[in-house]
Amino acid sequence: MNPYIQYMYSYPHKTAYRPLTGIHLSDYISVMAGKGHGLYLHIPFCQSKCGYCNLFSVTGIEQDEVDRYLDTIERQSRQYQEILESVQTEFSELVLGGGTPLFLTERQLGRTFDILEKHFRFSPKRGLIVETAPNQTTTEKLEILKQAGVSRVSMGIQSFSDRELTALKRQHTAQKARAALELIKAYDFSCVNVDFIYGIPGQTETSLLDSLKEALRFEPEEIFLYPLYVKHGVRMEREGVVLEPESAFVQYRVASDFLRAEGYRQDSMRRFVHQKTARIFSECGFGTSIGLGCGGRSYLGELHFCSPYAITRSACIEHLKEYETTMDFMEIKHGILLSEEEQKRRYIIRHLFIRPGLEQNRYRELFGKDVLEEFPVLREWIEQGFIVQQSDLDAKIYFALTDAGLELSDYLGPQLISPKINQAMCEWSQCKLGFCTALQNS
Ligand code: SF4
Repeated sequence: MNPYIQYMYSYPHKTAYRPLTGIHLSDYISVMAGKGHGLYLHIPFCQSKCGYCNLFSVTGIEQDEVDRYLDTIERQSRQYQEILESVQTEFSELVLGGGTPLFLTERQLGRTFDILEKHFRFSPKRGLIVETAPNQTTTEKLEILKQAGVSRVSMGIQSFSDRELTALKRQHTAQKARAALELIKAYDFSCVNVDFIYGIPGQTETSLLDSLKEALRFEPEEIFLYPLYVKHGVRMEREGVVLEPESAFVQYRVASDFLRAEGYRQDSMRRFVHQKTARIFSECGFGTSIGLGCGGRSYLGELHFCSPYAITRSACIEHLKEYETTMDFMEIKHGILLSEEEQKRRYIIRHLFIRPGLEQNRYRELFGKDVLEEFPVLREWIEQGFIVQQSDLDAKIYFALTDAGLELSDYLGPQLISPKINQAMCEWSQCKLGFCTALQNS
């Protein structure tokens, strides 16, 4: 069995999105009424493309091109503001992701926050999350983040071994990452999150542990451990790099045991939160969120949309140009409308794979049925020891992954993909086998 089939961080994947016609944002805006929504701004620029990167990001961009991008963000924000005001939308979370948000100059970063503050309404205690990067982290930029009220910074370190960073085609060095983390610590953000990768060519259990031990010197509140997926279309795929599942699985076990022994609570296959950190659990399956920028995704109930999925520079540039010439952001041209069945699958995927898990009665309230009756595969997973039924202090009953289920999240999760979505994803990647066949054979 291959434990590394697919990371199900959202559902359906963007590769299952298709062109849409006749859909207007105002038709769906009622789901954005009132408080508690998320706003995401995508900055799709990077210093260079990492070997494994399958995100919407472009390199070789000049400052005036970034300015043009921000002009478009402003136009999109103005148009969104008009309809969001009508339903008094208040955002409780703002995320600047990428790409590399700190690729922006100080002036551009300041302008970005000005645009957001001017056009959107935020709750006084909003969470503000920014993705940083070792090479772009400076005192001046951190000062801007601090003044903007950033509550959480996350940084992709990936490894403290220069040899492994080179294998990943990362531009930063281990020393640069250390210096950036020192700086970030000096600013005392409420939460610092660092990402690491395992399964890197040449990486050993010892070198992975060395990286994590070094990370702990900086006392991060959260650590994410990602297996090195080499997806269709990325540079490493062209170079013939593949994830070795057996050695990666051993590395995962060694690393997760280590982090748990060091006082980190494991909330998912990837996420480790230090026990001292207050747990903030929000129902993550049905949250509404608006995305700004090219590559930023919006979730408005049954409607999910964003620009077409792209990885290569030429495809990203093409969509970037389309974005910058868009005059009417109310017309939704690319995305997916989720049937009730797909919404159920999404709900299960978004809850089961992160602790405390999937709440049985909540599912019944939302969908009027028992989740075990609708998805018998969950019964099988109980029998196989991958999930357990357990109650919390409020006597709510959850289906929660056991440790055995947790480490197989990327094997179990894809089994919840519907045949229709699966086919659309396979069409995009021109997979000859079909994902289901690949899964059966694994
Ligand atoms: S992995 Fe992150 S830093 Fe690397 S190219 Fe992709 S978006 Fe940029």
